[in-house]
Amino acid sequence: MQASTTVLIPFDNSYARELTGLYVAWQPAQVAAPRLLFFNDELAEELGLDAQALRGEEGASIFAGNTVPQGAQPIAQAYAGHQFGGFSPQLGDGRALLLGEIIDRQGHRRDLAFKGSGRTPFSRGGDGRAAVGPMLREVLIGEAMHALGIPTTRALAVAGTGESVVREEMLPGAVLTRVASSHLRVGTFQFFAARGEIDKLRQLAEYAIARHDPDLTGAPGRYLALLRRVAQRQARLIAQWMNVGFIHGVMNTDNMTISGETIDYGPCAFLEAYDPQAVFSSIDSQGRYAYGNQPGIAQWNLARLAEALLPLIVEDASEAAADRAVAEATAVIQAFPDLYQAALLRGQRAKLGLADTAAANDATDAALARDWLALLQAQQVDFTLGWRRLADAAGGDEAPLQALFAQPQALHEWLILWRQRCAEEGAVAPPARAEHMRRASPWIIPRNQRVEEALQAASREGDMAPFERLLAALRDPWQELPANAAFAEPAPAAVTACYRTFCGT
Ligand code: AMP
Ligand code: MG
Repeated sequence: MQASTTVLIPFDNSYARELTGLYVAWQPAQVAAPRLLFFNDELAEELGLDAQALRGEEGASIFAGNTVPQGAQPIAQAYAGHQFGGFSPQLGDGRALLLGEIIDRQGHRRDLAFKGSGRTPFSRGGDGRAAVGPMLREVLIGEAMHALGIPTTRALAVAGTGESVVREEMLPGAVLTRVASSHLRVGTFQFFAARGEIDKLRQLAEYAIARHDPDLTGAPGRYLALLRRVAQRQARLIAQWMNVGFIHGVMNTDNMTISGETIDYGPCAFLEAYDPQAVFSSIDSQGRYAYGNQPGIAQWNLARLAEALLPLIVEDASEAAADRAVAEATAVIQAFPDLYQAALLRGQRAKLGLADTAAANDATDAALARDWLALLQAQQVDFTLGWRRLADAAGGDEAPLQALFAQPQALHEWLILWRQRCAEEGAVAPPARAEHMRRASPWIIPRNQRVEEALQAASREGDMAPFERLLAALRDPWQELPANAAFAEPAPAAVTACYRTFCGT
C-alpha cells in the first residue's frame, strides 16, 4: 500500500487521540479496481477540500480504501445497541471505519468514515462489504434530507470496487465515505455501560460534551444536561421527519446519534398516501418502526440512553441527591412527548401558513393539523402533494387541492375552519402566505419508485444518468420546475402497497 505524499485531507483525529481503548485501530481492505461513482463537490467545498484533486485517480484510490490518505488514522468504533427491542452487547463498526476528522470551513469538527471497507474485529458473520445500490441510496436520501433542512450525515464519495459482493444475487461492490458531525450513538454509551466500564463511559461522555455541547464542559450536573440536550435534538429531528413523511425503518439504538443527525439510510422510505401505520422495511414485520411509531421509539431509545448514563448521573450528584438525580433523568424522558409535540406543531404551523406561535393557540392549531391529517388518511391523499396543494389554496387556487380528494365535502368543511384561523392573523397577502407554505412543504421528495429505478440502472447497467437526474431534482425540492415533474408524481397505490425496502447489507 502506498501512502500519499501531499496532504489532501487535513485530518485532526480527536477520537483516536483522546479515547484510547474505546476502539480498534484497523486498515481498510484493498480492492481490485477503484472507480469514483459519485463525488460531492458541494460538500467538499464546505469541508475546505480540493475537489479537483480528489476527483482524480488518487481520489478513487483513497475513497475505495486502497490508499490511506496522509494523516488518517482508521479505527473501528465499538458500540452496542437494542435491535428491534433486543439488546446486542457488541455490534460496532462491522463494515465501517472512522478514517479521522477534519475541521470544516465553519470551524465544525466532522467525521470522515467508510462504510463497506472490509471486515473488522466487529464483523461477526458479515463480509464487511457493501453494494453499489445501497451506498448510492445513502447519497440520494442524505442529500434529499440536507436539501430539506433536516440534520443528516452526508455522502462525500462512493467508489466502486470492481469486485462483486455476494447477497441474494451477486452485486457490484462499493465503499461509501460518509461525513457526520460525529458517529457517537446511543449504542456507544450502551456498550461501555453494559460492560460496567464506568471510566470509559465517563471518558466518552466528556468527549461527547466537548464535541456537541461544549458549553456544558465541567459544569455540575453535565451528564444529566447532556441527556436533556440529546432529547431536545431528537425531538426536533423526529418532528422534522414526521413533517416530510420520512420513515427511518430501523430506529435501533445504534442508529440514533448523540448529535441529532439522521444516520444509516438502510430500509428507509418516504410516505406516499398518508398512513401512520406505513411500514416498508422487509425485516420490520411487527411494524415496530412504522411511521407513526417513530416519536414513541425515539423516547424509548432515549430511555436506554438515560439508563446508560445513569451511573455517571448518580456519581455526579452528592450522595443525598442521588435519588433526585434518578428522578430528574426519568423526568427528562417523560418530558419528551411534550418536547416533540412542540417541535411538531412549530413545523405544522409553517405548513398550515400560520406565522403566529402564541401558546394560547396551541390546542386549536394542533387540532387543525390533526384534522387535516385525518382527512388525508381517510381519503388516502398523497402526503407531499396534499400539503403542497394546500399552499396553492392559500394563494387562491383551490382546484388542484380539490382534485386530490375523492369526497371534497369533508375538505370544504375543514377549509372553512382553516381560513378562519388564517384570517385571525390579519392581512397577510395570499401570495405571501402561499410562498411561506411552499418553503415548509417540499414538492420533491425521494419517491420510492424513482429511487429504485435510479439504483437499478446504476447497479445493473452501470448507467448513472437516472441517478444524476434524480439527485439534481432532490437537491432543489421547493421549486416546481417543469423538468422535475416526473419526480413529483406519486406512484400508483398498488406499487406503494407492494414496496419493500431491505437493510443495506
Ligand atoms: P446497520 O444495519 O447498517 O445499522 O448495521 C448493524 C450492525 O451490523 C453494525 O454493527 C454493522 O457494522 C453490522 N453490519 C451490517 N452489515 C454488515 C456486513 N456486511 N459485514 C459486517 N458487518 C455488518
Ligand atoms: Mg447502523
